[in-house]
Amino acid sequence: MNAGGLFSCLALPWISHLDMANLTLGLGLPEQSVLQPAWDYLLQYYQAELRSPLFPVVISVSTYFLMVTLYTALDLLAPSWPTLNRYKLHPDRPVTWENIWTTLGLTAYNHLVYIFPAAVGQWLWRPPIPLPPDAPSLMGFLLGILGCTVMFDFQYYLWHLLHHRVAWLYRTFHVVHHQYLQPFSLVTQYLSAWELISVGFWTTVDPLLLQCHCLTAWGFMVFTICVATEDHCGYDFPWSLHRLVPFGLWGGPPKHDAHHRMPGTNFAPFFSHWDWLGGTNLVPTTPTEDTLVTEGLKGSRDK
Ligand SMILES: [Zn+2]
Ligand SMILES: [Zn+2]
Repeated sequence: MNAGGLFSCLALPWISHLDMANLTLGLGLPEQSVLQPAWDYLLQYYQAELRSPLFPVVISVSTYFLMVTLYTALDLLAPSWPTLNRYKLHPDRPVTWENIWTTLGLTAYNHLVYIFPAAVGQWLWRPPIPLPPDAPSLMGFLLGILGCTVMFDFQYYLWHLLHHRVAWLYRTFHVVHHQYLQPFSLVTQYLSAWELISVGFWTTVDPLLLQCHCLTAWGFMVFTICVATEDHCGYDFPWSLHRLVPFGLWGGPPKHDAHHRMPGTNFAPFFSHWDWLGGTNLVPTTPTEDTLVTEGLKGSRDK
């Protein structure tokens, strides 16, 4: 779930309103952000690249392909590596080359038909991004990413709920993503164009609405791609975010895997609170065939 660069042509000049560390220490001197040296380095050596309208597209696409390459390598190693295979949510169901080629085919199609032309359009018509001289504070950077993630989570929850509850919307736009009952990393962007556009729109607009620094916006873009890919990776590693965030607040791969098998549950992409409030939260147990709900699963590619 990314394509954050798809809509960055909408970007307004970046303003750093979350820059809370640049407060004084009581000496009348501004405290320098811990991110300032890195930001200075980037401005000094990579200013032209950072100002390019293509930059958000390049980081979102390269982050996605880096993540899926890593997870796909694990998928190919897992059948002959028991130590790794035991972390799989479905250790008896290896990811096949057919799965990989099919998902890669749609991903390549989406990139060629939608993302590449949008990137060229931005390169041609959008002015370079103005870069502020000051870095965001570390707190501003982290709170900005958190704020954007909370906002995105709500937007996608509503979109997702609607596209399951309205049969026409499900059949027309979302069923593509549900062709796999057991997700693996490449299913993350196995999406219809409308879903890809919706996700790309929020990923770009949310940092603007919260008036984040551009470094925060890029951090949010990279973060959402990483966690969306993790959601679909099919592994439950000890270091997974849902094991680190307390109270079951972060869904993670087990809950999203359950959504693919039981599509009436776990609509929120990241957090659990909207599913708690909506009564759709499901904490998965060991999956078995007889727990599968068949609604909307006709034509699944991995039954
Ligand atoms: Zn999914
Ligand atoms: Zn769904």
